[in-house]
Amino acid sequence: MDNHKNPNPAPDTAVKNQTESAKGSGDTINTKGATQPEDGGSEKSDLASQESVGLFNPDEDEKGASVTSCLKKIADKYGIVVSGSSLQLGSSSSTNEYLRLQADNMGLNLSIKPLPLKIEDEMLPLIVQYSDGSFALIEEKVGRRLTLWNGRQEIIRNKKSEFSEFKDWACSLKPVFETDRVPFLSLTWFIGQIGKMWPMYSQVILATVMIHCFTLVIPLLMGIFYDRILPNLAENSLKVLITGAIIVLAFDYILKNVRTSLVEKAALRVEQDAEPQLLSLVLDTNYSKLPISAGHLAHAVQEFSRIKSLFTTQLVVGSIDFFFLFFFLFIIYLNSGMLFAVPAVTSFLVLIVAVVYGFFIDANVSAQSKLQSRKSSFLNEIFNGVESIKVTNAARLFVSRWASEIEKSGEMSSKYRIAQSRCSMTTGFLGQLNSAGLLIVAFFLIKNGNMSSGGLLATMVLSGRCIAVSASMSNLITSYLFARRSYKDLRKILELQKETCETRQFKIQQLGGGVRFDSVSFRYQPESPYALENVSFETKPGEKVGIIGPMGSGKSTLLKLLAGLADPSEGLIMLDGHNMAHLNIEKVREFVGVVPQSPVLFHGTLELNLLMGSRTATQKSLKQALTISGIERFVSKHPLGLKMPILEGGKNLSRGQRQAVAVARALISSPPLLLLDEPTSSMDSTQERMLINQIKGTMADKSIFVVTHRPQILEVVDRILVVDQGRIVADGPRDEIIRKLSSPAPAKQG
Ligand code: ADP
Ligand code: MG
Repeated sequence: MDNHKNPNPAPDTAVKNQTESAKGSGDTINTKGATQPEDGGSEKSDLASQESVGLFNPDEDEKGASVTSCLKKIADKYGIVVSGSSLQLGSSSSTNEYLRLQADNMGLNLSIKPLPLKIEDEMLPLIVQYSDGSFALIEEKVGRRLTLWNGRQEIIRNKKSEFSEFKDWACSLKPVFETDRVPFLSLTWFIGQIGKMWPMYSQVILATVMIHCFTLVIPLLMGIFYDRILPNLAENSLKVLITGAIIVLAFDYILKNVRTSLVEKAALRVEQDAEPQLLSLVLDTNYSKLPISAGHLAHAVQEFSRIKSLFTTQLVVGSIDFFFLFFFLFIIYLNSGMLFAVPAVTSFLVLIVAVVYGFFIDANVSAQSKLQSRKSSFLNEIFNGVESIKVTNAARLFVSRWASEIEKSGEMSSKYRIAQSRCSMTTGFLGQLNSAGLLIVAFFLIKNGNMSSGGLLATMVLSGRCIAVSASMSNLITSYLFARRSYKDLRKILELQKETCETRQFKIQQLGGGVRFDSVSFRYQPESPYALENVSFETKPGEKVGIIGPMGSGKSTLLKLLAGLADPSEGLIMLDGHNMAHLNIEKVREFVGVVPQSPVLFHGTLELNLLMGSRTATQKSLKQALTISGIERFVSKHPLGLKMPILEGGKNLSRGQRQAVAVARALISSPPLLLLDEPTSSMDSTQERMLINQIKGTMADKSIFVVTHRPQILEVVDRILVVDQGRIVADGPRDEIIRKLSSPAPAKQG
């Protein structure tokens, strides 16, 4: 299936070409030439390479091998199946893009970094590039030496001087092991994120501190104005004062701008890092364990932004603000002595109001977030089912259901808003009390000559700041409560069983297709009835099995279990003699083609919908898949061919066409095991006939399970399993079962 590319000795491996040694490619890591290291993630995607020939074609004068053969070596090392033509994917782009794409295809973690002075074990294997544009693979560290492969095996010293013939970048490719990862959203994860952003955070903190210091300037200047300038009518001093104030205000303005962009940068960084990780974790969840609707799930994932903004922005700025509350009070104390007691007491009361408010809305936050989630999944459902709603005249029904959702959420929101406005009213009231209190206390202080009236003015302004800071704590508390809610929801999802857990790491390298079900029972939820009950059967590699039975009898469920979409509740499924529960499911799926009962297409091109995650598709297998599925006929009529656009859900194709695309998609890597769930249910009889003939003609060696209601397709099978109410009620050679079923007293019992 994969045509291994000359992994061995000299000249023919050494994939080198570089006729026009790619000097012009500027600063992109180029398929064959000029390079520049790439720091961390900032990618310089570039056109640099249409000269991709260097990837594949050897040139005698070069020192090293092609990047393709280095990748092939890495793939072999990790036991990843890749074919020559899948390695050609992306070959027309620049080397860094090409490497990224290939790493993605192979499920490897890629990092391109400046070439280190000394190479450590954990960086290996490392792809490096000779200055002539060809490549080498540093494979192993043996003591103080490195083994290097550049078409031949070489040993070099692990020293900077030895690396002088390489360009100054290196690319490491490593498998992603779940166990190596810091658990997402754990404390260590948060600390790690903050650590990564620390350079930015330190600047944000500095900027915030300076901004706060600047806010001191105006009240202090007001004090001076009142006490010194106004009584003496000192015009010159006023000019100096005003100039100083303008300069400070301008700095303040600039710093605030800088802070905003820094905070945004930090948030973006977390977003880019965390959101793909979050999605990949959610997608890794064992599908049958996901208890909630797609809408709820999408909502929970989107709510991550609340957690992100809390810990990237609000907490940092909030805690600095909180610290400055005390600082301002201290300044007031220095400036006006005991007068500071008034804003101190008021700020404390405002903080209590914020906490009490938080306490009140806590229950509301849960309810509100549940309602929001219900609303979004409700809308999702409606828009997905628009056709069914229209043809059943159900629009009014759904509108009234929507109205009741709105009513419920309206009640919640208005409670929440009332709490919010009460909180701000109380804060405002306390602010006014603060002013009155200041006047009263200041009166006595000024009377006794302990304070100037300028001091009173400055205190008034500063205490306003104190109260504003305390009041902003209520926002922080609200954000915290919402983020905590989102965190809990996400944790619940993330804690669900994963497909790639430690016990499922065994990677099969090939699949014959022999299947054994050993007393398998399955139910979708712990409390629901069994969809499959005590199912046992065994098939040989290459056997073709039809599964028939009334609707809801468990046929699709049986295929889902075989596709690893769900695990048996009881019993064992063996694949080629391996317990499926221990196999790396991603690896298994490389060898299994599945046509689901309701195939889904995605927005993009037809080509994208066909290739999907396939790592072993070749031009030949693609062509074959197009022919067998029958989509060749409509592809050839479309001006864009395989590039024809597909709308969301495949809306612009007919059901039959969608089904044909799904068949082609399943066949594209020519998998040895095919699971077809009513693959021809929406096809016309010509198309069905063609598919049947193709299967008969081209798939003698494949193992096939086909669920069907159509008698014609049973032509391709040798054996039939009859399923009823989750049990196998008959199992035998096709003709015998068909005879039994069509005889007057059908054998119900197997
Ligand atoms: P069929 O033989 O028609 O393909 P299925 O295997 O799809 O039947 O379904 C078998 C039983 O499992 C049915 O009773 C159905 O209600 C139930 N079922 C199917 N899918 C789900 C699901 N995702 N969640 C809960 N129950 C399900
Ligand atoms: Mg079904």
